[in-house]
Amino acid sequence: PPLIGVLALQGDVREHVAALTASGARAITVRRPAELASVDGLVLPGGESTTIDKLLRAFGLYEPLRTRIGEGLPVYGSCAGMILLADRVQGATADQTTLGGIDMTVRRNAFGRQVDSFEEDLLAPALGAGPDDAPLRAVFIRAPWVEEVGDGVEVLARAGGGARASAGKIVAVRHGMLLATSFHPEIGGETRVHRLFVEMVRDAAVSRTLATS
Ligand code: GLN
Repeated sequence: PPLIGVLALQGDVREHVAALTASGARAITVRRPAELASVDGLVLPGGESTTIDKLLRAFGLYEPLRTRIGEGLPVYGSCAGMILLADRVQGATADQTTLGGIDMTVRRNAFGRQVDSFEEDLLAPALGAGPDDAPLRAVFIRAPWVEEVGDGVEVLARAGGGARASAGKIVAVRHGMLLATSFHPEIGGETRVHRLFVEMVRDAAVSRTLATS
């Protein structure tokens, strides 16, 4: 099975490790460049994107991770992790930077103006939650939403919520080997997002083998 790292600088690392293991991957925590170099894919958990941005630099992971993303490393970012993968951020602090990679603009703490944390069932066929399937239970915690995406970005899920300002906002995207969700599927035992990510990591490993053989 593929070896997938969970960035372990901040956030709910254990829940991601459990969701990855339940989805058929081997999972390790990543704090050092050597650990980053060993993995076939990486999860960026939620937390505070400004803090994780600074910690990535302090731990010497920022440049190596940017390089690996440029080389096609599959990365899944949840919540703060989504912000780190965004090319453009609204509501960033003055010194906040992102790794980038996904051609999108995210708005930090977007739902927070309505309500800090909430749960919602999403209809998201691209994530295996179609009309005939169990809805995807999404937990949002001071979450970003996606304001706009570039041409190469696939929209995987949108918020419901009727008349709320967030209704219809994009909350899950895929761009090449990068996957991002506004919400936290690792909370509450939802594994469909992690299973998709494990598939992406498997596919990336297969194309690498074909390219070098
Ligand atoms: N509000 C946080 C940020 O801007 C993200 C919250 C989360 O990851 N749960 O980084």
